Amino acid sequence: MLSISPIQPTSSQSTAHSPLLRQLPLSRSHHLHHRRSRFCFHLLQLTRCRHPSALLIRALDAAQPYDYETRLSRRFSQSTALKIAIIGFGNFGQFLAKAFIRQGHTVLANSRSDHSSVAQSLGASFYADPHDLCEQHPDVILLSTAVIHTEQVLKALPIQRLRRNTLFVDVLSVKEFPKNIFLQYLPSHFDILCTHPMFGPESGKDGWTGLTFVFDKVRIGPQKSREARVENFLQIFEKEGCRMVEMSCAEHDKYAAGSQFITHTVGRVLEKLSLETTPINTKGYERLLDLVENTAKDSFDLYYGLFMYNKNSMEQLERLDWAFESLKKELFGHLHEVLRKQLFGKVEEGVQGPVLSKLPNNVAAFPPPKTNSVEINNN
Ligand code: NAP
Repeated sequence: MLSISPIQPTSSQSTAHSPLLRQLPLSRSHHLHHRRSRFCFHLLQLTRCRHPSALLIRALDAAQPYDYETRLSRRFSQSTALKIAIIGFGNFGQFLAKAFIRQGHTVLANSRSDHSSVAQSLGASFYADPHDLCEQHPDVILLSTAVIHTEQVLKALPIQRLRRNTLFVDVLSVKEFPKNIFLQYLPSHFDILCTHPMFGPESGKDGWTGLTFVFDKVRIGPQKSREARVENFLQIFEKEGCRMVEMSCAEHDKYAAGSQFITHTVGRVLEKLSLETTPINTKGYERLLDLVENTAKDSFDLYYGLFMYNKNSMEQLERLDWAFESLKKELFGHLHEVLRKQLFGKVEEGVQGPVLSKLPNNVAAFPPPKTNSVEINNN
């Protein structure tokens, strides 16, 4: 701090940063500029040779390049820091808030229940009344409400209290539904970004590296600042190491019904079996136990939302049902064959062994399973 500046008064430019000199009247005329430079030079001679208090001032000035960088980076992070309002401060909302706050963003929260003490412990501000929250003019309104209650929450938000260019984001596990209600209820001056972090408090508890984050920039105003704000928001997930996947909400729902909904359904079916760990667990069985652990902790509202608000889920449920029935038939068919062999000494000629048919991938209508062989064997 007190080191004496090695900067030499060689030009007026090198003196221009001095806090003392900043107070000098500036003029565009060469004459004045020249006089100012000369004055600077004299002042610096003074600071270097004669006046101890002036030395102090110069010393502060010398520290500026280092200080300048610190301040610059602080100013940069302040300019990219977002004020994010999370609506629905339950399991997932709180999980996201931790990462937002860790990255230096400001988090405001509103929810159906009073989560003020949790919010305080995380460093977020809780607003029981959505009017108060909206009057804080957040940059981003992020909906993290149960899918099945989201429409009523959005309709009840006093959006007239928000800034006109506020960015609306959702993190719902289905995507076409929030996209449609955003477009239906939000005036065109609000930006819309639909997202789905494809992980949760369980699967993301050890970090988000490599975990998938799906997003669709549904409606973003043409101004550079709006684009920058969206990028800034997406960077939160990039910085955490997520695999960023941009795709349409419709595509997401198609893929998610065949993967996420099936995962949750199988997890919930297994949960009903009350599986227990054994002294001889295989790796595969351990994975099943993990699956139950991962899915059963999510609320039924969440699971029900995956079913009700993704038009592809019903088809997947039927496929699962068909696959189970088909597998049973294949097993019983083999059993039937063994019994016939025991009864008649040989397999009847012209009768094939049972074959498990497979459904074509994601067909719109289900063809009846090709059960010819199975049916014959079941006769
Ligand atoms: P959830 O059961 O899907 O949603 C619970 C949240 O919804 C709570 O914040 C709850 O508020 C709020 N809520 C429910 N009914 C409400 C109502 N009538 N009015 C206002 N708020 C209401 O569980 P979640 O795990 O926290 O998920 C939140 C959202 O994130 C869901 O849309 C889910 O699909 C999505 N998501 C979850 C995960 C995950 O792994 N959990 C992952 C990705 C995306 P209160 O707590 O105040 O009652």
